[in-house]
Amino acid sequence: MIELPVRDPCDLCEGIAGREEKWAVIDEGDLTLTVINPWQFEIGQCCVITRRHVATLLDLSDEESNAVSVSAKRVAHALVETFSPLGVLTFQNNGVYSGQETPHFHFHVVPRQKGSDWGVGPPQLATFEGAGRPRGTRHDPSGDAQRRERVQVSVEQLVRTAELIRSNLPTP
Ligand SMILES: [Zn+2]
Repeated sequence: MIELPVRDPCDLCEGIAGREEKWAVIDEGDLTLTVINPWQFEIGQCCVITRRHVATLLDLSDEESNAVSVSAKRVAHALVETFSPLGVLTFQNNGVYSGQETPHFHFHVVPRQKGSDWGVGPPQLATFEGAGRPRGTRHDPSGDAQRRERVQVSVEQLVRTAELIRSNLPTP
């Protein structure tokens, strides 16, 4: 059984409702939003999220699944145009044992640059034990605080980065 992280209230639903301070929308569709990731482990790191509160890939409708793919491709084009990255990493976590920390579907789209501080990400997920938490353990935000501190970006900076990426989105 896939164990989901616990986060109440859901930070992504808070963002959609306009109650999240570090929130900047890059692109909008009927079923998805593309938002800047408040943790800029890579400059321009963003996520495609569903408007609906669903936890994992397994919960998506076919329409949402398609919309996520289209939105990810759109923003990937914009990231390449904006940052000329050496690569674009996409990933998505389903359950705490895959490293999921927020119980709301989000698909990461990350422009990779040489020498960047990845922080939390695939290396942390190299072992099964490293990815998961003991069953029933609530999400512990203290680790997040330390990680956030390492890659702290001001709200203004996030908004500027989101605007820059948005200006390079392909025309629909
Ligand atoms: Zn949510």
